[in-house]
Amino acid sequence: MPLIVQKYGGTSVAGVERIKNVAGRVARTHKDGNKVVVVLSAMSGETNRLVAFANEASEFPVGREYDMIVSTGEQVTIGLLSLVLKEMGLKARSFAGHQVPIITDSQFGSARIEHIGSEAIMRELASGGIAIVAGFQGVDTDGNITTLGRGGSDTTAVALAAALNADLCEIYTDVEGVYTTDPNICNDARKLAKVSYDEMLEMASLGAKVLQTRSVEFARKYNVPVMVRSSFTDTQGTLVCKEDIEMEKVVVSGVTYNKDEAKISVLRVPDRPGIAARLFKPLTEAGINVDMIVQNISHDAHTDLTFTVSKSEFKRALKLVKETASDIEAKEVVGDPNIAKVSIVGAGMRSHAGVASKMFDVMAAEGINIQMISTSEIKISCVVDVKYTELAVRVLHDAFELGKEEVNEER
Ligand code: ADP
Ligand code: ASP
Ligand code: MG
Repeated sequence: MPLIVQKYGGTSVAGVERIKNVAGRVARTHKDGNKVVVVLSAMSGETNRLVAFANEASEFPVGREYDMIVSTGEQVTIGLLSLVLKEMGLKARSFAGHQVPIITDSQFGSARIEHIGSEAIMRELASGGIAIVAGFQGVDTDGNITTLGRGGSDTTAVALAAALNADLCEIYTDVEGVYTTDPNICNDARKLAKVSYDEMLEMASLGAKVLQTRSVEFARKYNVPVMVRSSFTDTQGTLVCKEDIEMEKVVVSGVTYNKDEAKISVLRVPDRPGIAARLFKPLTEAGINVDMIVQNISHDAHTDLTFTVSKSEFKRALKLVKETASDIEAKEVVGDPNIAKVSIVGAGMRSHAGVASKMFDVMAAEGINIQMISTSEIKISCVVDVKYTELAVRVLHDAFELGKEEVNEER
């Protein structure tokens, strides 16, 4: 009997009526002869509401209690779906993270899954039941509730699919698949039939929040086929899978943006060995991830160093950097949360020249100033003023002809 993991995002479970719609789809999949494991998010807006409470209660609400608070939204939806399925005469059981168990490390707020026990769920499936699992949450080895980072229910679903050796992991969301760019800001965005794990990994880590980055890492590592599709229609979605030859033909397959980062510049840093290590060590120790880093050439034994961190960690990072900056006698620390990172992604960039200069030309023609640049084999990212985000996405999408039929038919 095939085993399918279905994950439904916040919009799909926003209210009991929508949960009934989800129950209909789950019941159909079960009736068609599949074993079904369902992973749910909290109702849309609920996790934001819980995060706001935590911020109201404390200036830096990190750690155990933060996870205790923000993990609760998922428990409501799994309980509701189980009740609805039982009303329909089906056998269903809800599982909180610790009841599975989904064992994680103790990095509260962004814990990583270390192990998933499959026995309890397998027992439920073997008895003809449907297992409904809370997304986003796990438990550490001391029994503390942990959460996997925003958007973490995707990772719960893919990790469960890997642990249970599922045949397919379906991610149901509010759009019909993975598009060439966010369909909510660009009317021309086109749905991709297939996207490779590598491209999806870049797109996710660069802001295409349709899948959490960690979920794509799991999918790639354990070769889990992932289908992204809408819970509101029956249209075919996007398959995230291994790269094939066809995919390399497409130079640029997507444009992404991320407004969730902030920029910190340390000005006139003495140019000596060990200075960068001194600056970044306190951030690492505080569990703060640094993304792009740019250091400019030093003329008079001083240099400027600029980097980005997640907006949710901006205040904490700024405080730590200011402390170190005075120790190392840097002149000034300047923070700017009003930035966005706009990126183009494509497997074919490996074998095509001129993509970067075209990107810069397009931005220049619109008068968009580029503040930072970073590249990898299959992506180019630029940091710009946040007010240019939508404009930059649309002109790049246009310039690389992503809305055109021919480009996507190759896939
Ligand atoms: P869910 O609550 O179902 O997890 P999310 O809001 O996390 O949904 O992710 C879906 C959203 O991702 C879409 O509504 C869309 O605005 C956004 N998105 C950004 N980039 C893309 C893209 N390239 N393709 C599809 N959706 C995208
Ligand atoms: N509810 C969590 C969030 O909003 C997890 C998720 O929806 O994937 O981030
Ligand atoms: Mg999501």
